Amino acid sequence: MSAPKFRVAICGGGISGLCLAVALSRCPSIQVDVYEATDRFKEIGAGVMIWARTWRILEKLGLGPTFSKIAHAPPSGSIEPGFDFRRSDQPEEGFRYRLVQMPFGCIRFYRVDFLDVFVDALPPGIAHFGMRLVSYSQKADTNEISLEFSNGHATTCDLLAGCDGIKSTIRAQMFTEAAERLRDDTLLKFIDPAWTGTIAYRGLIPVERLPMNHRSIASPMMYCGKSKHVVSYSISRGNIVNVVTFASKPESEGSSYSEDTQGVNCPQQELLDCYAGWEPEVEQLLSQIDNPTRWAIHHLRPLPFFVDGKIALLGDACHAMAPHEGAGAGQAIEDAFILAALLEQTTIEEIPLALKAYQRVRLPFANHVLEGSYQSGMLYEFNSDYGEDYENLGPAIEKQWDWVEEPSPEEERLRALEYFYDLASRS
Ligand SMILES: Cc1cc2nc3c(=O)[nH]c(=O)nc-3n(C[C@H](O)[C@H](O)[C@H](O)COP(=O)(O)OP(=O)(O)OC[C@H]3O[C@@H](n4cnc5c(N)ncnc54)[C@H](O)[C@@H]3O)c2cc1C
Repeated sequence: MSAPKFRVAICGGGISGLCLAVALSRCPSIQVDVYEATDRFKEIGAGVMIWARTWRILEKLGLGPTFSKIAHAPPSGSIEPGFDFRRSDQPEEGFRYRLVQMPFGCIRFYRVDFLDVFVDALPPGIAHFGMRLVSYSQKADTNEISLEFSNGHATTCDLLAGCDGIKSTIRAQMFTEAAERLRDDTLLKFIDPAWTGTIAYRGLIPVERLPMNHRSIASPMMYCGKSKHVVSYSISRGNIVNVVTFASKPESEGSSYSEDTQGVNCPQQELLDCYAGWEPEVEQLLSQIDNPTRWAIHHLRPLPFFVDGKIALLGDACHAMAPHEGAGAGQAIEDAFILAALLEQTTIEEIPLALKAYQRVRLPFANHVLEGSYQSGMLYEFNSDYGEDYENLGPAIEKQWDWVEEPSPEEERLRALEYFYDLASRS
């Protein structure tokens, strides 16, 4: 076997890291290693939804048939509900104020199953566990990047992919070094995620615990009220209903949240009290969540760059966003799709050019979705300029999903490649 053209180290084995590893494994001339901080690949069990554009990428990666088997319903191109929006923060029955529909609708999975498809598609021997990256350095003399891990292990690579999530160590180092190099302390504000002002509660309900005619079984629902909303949709081939509820203080956006932010167990009563007096359908749903968890929803301020030399950020490491458009994982997959397409065409010397092309295409798009996701939450919770003006609010919400259709990921991929070829021809 000939020597690889270059070595990619992927730090982080979540959706972004594993999708990149799978996409790159299609290119045998690239050596790939995945360094994961924990002792196994894992997702915290709950639902995840994707949209048509992400589905098309998964198909292009050859994973369509496997994902079809674990989707709530095998995806088809027909027009399906995205979300059914209701006004629900009153004791009497609520009402629909918008049904957002689109080709493929909302494609839904149990998170654990979703990640497992990538895990099963990984080539053997590339995953390394218990490897928490603590720092890297780009060596000018050898052109290599050296990596240091908390367990004392050290290694080198030719490209470092920072897939290490919302609290990314790699982002922190990249922005600290840039702030020093450019003598610009304002770059430091991009290191820490900011609280969106929203708390979420999550839970899963076995479908048999709900009345058969409960709307959440048939359709993805968005129950909306002032400064709060409740999302529900069925997963696991319809056997489980996934529920995420949100309660916001918009004035707190950008502040820091003092308590533990990730999946803290909380009493069911706390959840019920938060939505007391909502329509019966919502009460019925929430009363079936025995063990809710509480999350503080954080996002990043839109980053001014995703790459530095031969280091690239992907997924939540560069665009962690509020979950109101169900887009973070899809955007991570899109990062991996575009970056892998570029690297397939790249020599070791051209890596920095490929990363420039990656950033050129992905940064504006992902930041647009990041900002839109936050705005969508404001719209759903009647905190936007449209307030409760349903006639205009409905179309405004629908417009938030424009990015799902245009430009397509295939067009974005071609644009990135064209930009890369142009840069390479001039270098
Ligand atoms: C309530 C909620 C609901 C959501 N719903 C949806 C949805 O329906 N659809 C959707 O598209 N998105 C959704 N998202 C967003 C989505 O979950 C994330 O965008 C996505 O999981 C990010 O994947 P990632 O691989 O970038 O990061 P992560 O999943 O955070 O993975 C990072 C990995 O890196 C590892 N790691 C961390 N530090 C290091 C280190 N120093 N060295 C080595 N490894 C390290 C971690 O252990 C982890 O395995 C939701 C988010 C929330 C909070």
